[in-house]
Amino acid sequence: MDKKTSLLSVKARNIAPYTAGEQPRGGAFIKLNTNENPYPPSPSVLRAAASFDYGRFRKYPDIEASVLRDLIASRNGLSPGNIVCGNGSDEILAFCFQAFFDTADGEAVYFPDITYSFYKVWCGLYSLNYFTPPVDVNFEIDTADYCNNGQLKDKPRPAGVALANPNAPTGIVKPVSEIEKIIAANPETVVIVDEAYGAFSNETCLPLIKKYKNLCVVQTFSKSYSMAGLRVGFAAADPALIDGIKKIRDSFNSYPLDCFAAEMSAAAYADGAYLKKTADKIIRTREKLSADLRKIGFTVLPSGANFVFVNKPGVSGEALCAGLRSSGILVRRFAEPRIADWLRITIGTTAETSKVSEALKLLTSRPSFQSKNDTNSL
Ligand code: PMP
Repeated sequence: MDKKTSLLSVKARNIAPYTAGEQPRGGAFIKLNTNENPYPPSPSVLRAAASFDYGRFRKYPDIEASVLRDLIASRNGLSPGNIVCGNGSDEILAFCFQAFFDTADGEAVYFPDITYSFYKVWCGLYSLNYFTPPVDVNFEIDTADYCNNGQLKDKPRPAGVALANPNAPTGIVKPVSEIEKIIAANPETVVIVDEAYGAFSNETCLPLIKKYKNLCVVQTFSKSYSMAGLRVGFAAADPALIDGIKKIRDSFNSYPLDCFAAEMSAAAYADGAYLKKTADKIIRTREKLSADLRKIGFTVLPSGANFVFVNKPGVSGEALCAGLRSSGILVRRFAEPRIADWLRITIGTTAETSKVSEALKLLTSRPSFQSKNDTNSL
């Protein structure tokens, strides 16, 4: 037997974990790098916090976060058995990957080459094969890539699908009618639709849950409800899938959602009018930023999310990102093939967002930004 050279498991030694966006200490930056909502949570949340009975901290919380679960179910014409809540949608998605997917030789979980980078990490963690059909030159997902029914000799058989809609980091929305084709083409495997940014587009697959037993929709309170710090997300699916998620949950942590987060997120969810008001404001700001950046020569992908994905042809994304940082603005850049020169900019308040276009206008007017290789003046 090999001599053990580490106190860590092989998995812990070898896994390539997800890299979260920078969370700087202090408030010196305009922080547009992690798709947080620039507006505070609904006033109903503040009222619920003020009247919260802190004596409840003594006891373990309700495993099912029933008040929240029932609210989500009734708002969407579903039953409580269709919903499970968790500690952020990352946790729910991690449970889903474990609950739904097995990949034998020649099989793989399908997701686009450019998408939420955590999907690959979960495949690594749970030893799943994955296959990543490339998005096209416009960063669009081709429906046909996910409808091969295992018939194509050169492609692995789909053992599941994960699609972010809107996609991240592109922001591009796929019509539900197209996603439905993918769900219908894969009746023997689960299609996860990650709607982390769904509130900023008009598309949601929630109404399809009653129709398809192989669909699982995941949503979060982090972006649309301004509650990234509380960590609340949920999955909606056929009860058989929800029971599978719960079996994984109860083999890991039976109390993922604390009593405070459950009550605050229920208060937020109940205030649909506030969600609409803040989402509309973010959408208006997004459209203004997109137009302003196009005017100064940027390519801006059509976004249905609370961020835009932008590139200035011929200009280094790394240099732009560093230039914005030195102007006090944090945005996200992924040093990955095809998108290394693109920036993902979260939509902030109108004032913050104007500062981004002003800073980018100033930066790109410098001679050093005319050439990809010359970033010395930074
Ligand atoms: N899905 C996508 C596509 C995301 O961008 C994020 C945020 N990083 C999540 C899920 C997870 O969000 P949270 O865990 O905050 O609910």
